[in-house]
Amino acid sequence: MNFHDSRRIEEILTAAGHEAVTDATRAELLLVNSCTIREKPWHKAISETGRFRKRKSRDHALLVGLVGCVAQQEGDRVFKLLNGVDFVISPDNYQQLPAVIAHLQERGKPACITGFDRGEAEDFLGVQEVRSHEISTFVTITKGCDERCHYCIVPSVRGPERHRDADRIVAEVRGLVKRGVREVTLLGQKVNAYAAGGVDFAELLRRLDDVDGLLRLRFTSPHPRHMTDDLIGLYGRLRTLCPAIHLPVQAGSDRVLAAMGRRYTRADYLRVVEKLRAREKDMAISTDLIVGFPGESQRDFEQTLSLIGEAGFSSAFSFMYSPRPGTAAWDLHDDVPLVEKERRLAAAHVVIDASERRFRETLPGTRQDVLVEGKGRMPGQLTGRAGNFQIVNFTCDRPFDEVCGRLVPVVVTAINPNSLEGRMA
Ligand code: SAH
Ligand code: SF4
Repeated sequence: MNFHDSRRIEEILTAAGHEAVTDATRAELLLVNSCTIREKPWHKAISETGRFRKRKSRDHALLVGLVGCVAQQEGDRVFKLLNGVDFVISPDNYQQLPAVIAHLQERGKPACITGFDRGEAEDFLGVQEVRSHEISTFVTITKGCDERCHYCIVPSVRGPERHRDADRIVAEVRGLVKRGVREVTLLGQKVNAYAAGGVDFAELLRRLDDVDGLLRLRFTSPHPRHMTDDLIGLYGRLRTLCPAIHLPVQAGSDRVLAAMGRRYTRADYLRVVEKLRAREKDMAISTDLIVGFPGESQRDFEQTLSLIGEAGFSSAFSFMYSPRPGTAAWDLHDDVPLVEKERRLAAAHVVIDASERRFRETLPGTRQDVLVEGKGRMPGQLTGRAGNFQIVNFTCDRPFDEVCGRLVPVVVTAINPNSLEGRMA
């Protein structure tokens, strides 16, 4: 999401006459786009901003700004934490960046803008610009989150949940396809809870599937409790819907899931997995996991490990629980010691790696449709992703420009650590 926001910030500033440079030492304006989902990225954002600010002693005209979720969370406290920061602007206010910068260049007074935008969610950071050969892009359909999982700071830094109008989303996707995009990933914190003007998420996917020229649809992140039968039934039926889903489970024990406020059980989750696999046998299902949530016993944790095996995840991100201010879990005693969290994280990695390997070992010899996005590292090789999200480097006798942005059938011949190898079928 922050990557997508950074691109939108770049578009806003470019439209206002600024120019992006690749060498930060030449920049007249430095922006840190920050994340506060756990304590570690919060520290990183603050220390990175501090590092940039030091350059100001040599270069007085340099402007340093903090944007993103730490900006929303800390507001003008940032000026006390780090003197020398010129502005703090949160995600709902990026359209104001050019005005703030112009104002600072004239008057030099620090600025802090962190209110939530309560107007229409319509054109929230829509994609303005498509770079040449950009085949795949993101489209935000929902902003904010009202789910309030007990560990999660997102609802307080991204604000109330709002859904864009379906017609506008379809129009944006049509426009992107005209400019060469072939794959769209719909973005929202709880993307499958989308509902606007009588259109729910499954209906939105059906409408997008009708967009001529769009080859692939993905979305992130769905919440397990909003995986309706109508939505699951679209797999294998919609032309564009990829056989891959990132479906965060967080924990394998019902006790911990309840304490996290996730509002589903282990059995509910596994039922969704089973229904998905009934529609798409080889579906890539990936997840997010938190270890060491307050009160998580060794037995609870073992249930997370066994769930990884049962669900057969194709990959998983795992995190040590990190208490966040303002969340319901902030008041719970963070009782799993750091060394134990580290041990559980390492144990989870071993089981995740094995699950990942099992998934990938089924792929050699299969035929995958690869959406060609670039040239591979080896001469004569092209690269792209299969529907199951695996990167595939493959040999192809057709020139890149002819197949770029097209689906090419590829037979998988080998597994590399981070990619697959293949040849055009
Ligand atoms: N909206 C998405 C997740 C957004 S946050 C969803 O509901 O799935 C991305 C991931 O960060 C979460 O899935 C969770 O695994 C992790 N995360 C969030 N808050 C955390 C915390 N306080 N400590 C550790 N991990 C956390
Ligand atoms: Fe956070 Fe839960 Fe909302 Fe995801 S659904 S952003 S984990 S509160």
